[in-house]
Amino acid sequence: MTVRPQRVLFVHAHPDDETLITGGTIARYLRDGAEVRVVTCTLGEEGEVIGQEYAQLCADAADQLGGYRILELTQALAALSGNRPAITPRFLGGAGRFRDSGMADMPSSQNPRAFVNADLSLAAEELAALITDFQPHVVTTYDPDGTYGHPDHMRVHAVTNAAVVRAQERGWDVPKLYWAVAGRAYAQAAARALKGVPEGWVHAPADGLGRFPDEQITTRIDVSSVLAAKRAALRAHATQVTLAANGMAFALSNKIAQPVLAEEHFVLVRTGAGCKGTLLDGVVDETDLFAGL
Ligand SMILES: [Zn+2]
Repeated sequence: MTVRPQRVLFVHAHPDDETLITGGTIARYLRDGAEVRVVTCTLGEEGEVIGQEYAQLCADAADQLGGYRILELTQALAALSGNRPAITPRFLGGAGRFRDSGMADMPSSQNPRAFVNADLSLAAEELAALITDFQPHVVTTYDPDGTYGHPDHMRVHAVTNAAVVRAQERGWDVPKLYWAVAGRAYAQAAARALKGVPEGWVHAPADGLGRFPDEQITTRIDVSSVLAAKRAALRAHATQVTLAANGMAFALSNKIAQPVLAEEHFVLVRTGAGCKGTLLDGVVDETDLFAGL
């Protein structure tokens, strides 16, 4: 009998979040032989585009950005897969079901197809079906603030929580649920240490990166061995991300230099059947999402 490898499901809001927030972790667990799935809830239709070539794809022009970003996500996941067969994108409810809501004060958030306007129960049902089918040992979502306050990210938090409860009712009690977070002090120290920031980019303000209190982080994943894959994945999201020539930093359309971090952070928030020990009772200090399974 062959034993099924360990399985992890990453839930993300837009194409590029998987790479920006958990790209190193995806690459590392694929390299380590785990089964990895990434589900993305929207196509990122409201993203701002870097450069002129694809600028007319934007929502206020051709409104074709979402379809194009499927290609970028496909290439990013292939880059993160390294020598493993490339993992392919999966979209909640199928590609195009839920639309990028944009920021809270934008007209895009009024669109009936916007993810924030989706029926929570319906969206959770779609995700619960993916969970019961894949039976992941680990699921990752975002913290309640959605990493940086984007409404779609906050919605991912709510939908994942509801989906995990439903999956439990259907017989798959996810052993470990995590928030993927950006530790404030860690990100800011890395930003201060950046050298060779390209001309035209700006340094992040002192409190500009990472919003999550570092002392609440339970799990630090060392991704230093897979940074080449993470950089290739960042390059794949070319309408959204520019990587500095030296590979140490990247910037979104706001040109704020952000460090390519060698460590990615998670908070263990829920344990289910199959997770040994009492991880949530004390201070958790893990270096592996599968620890204790
Ligand atoms: Zn996002």
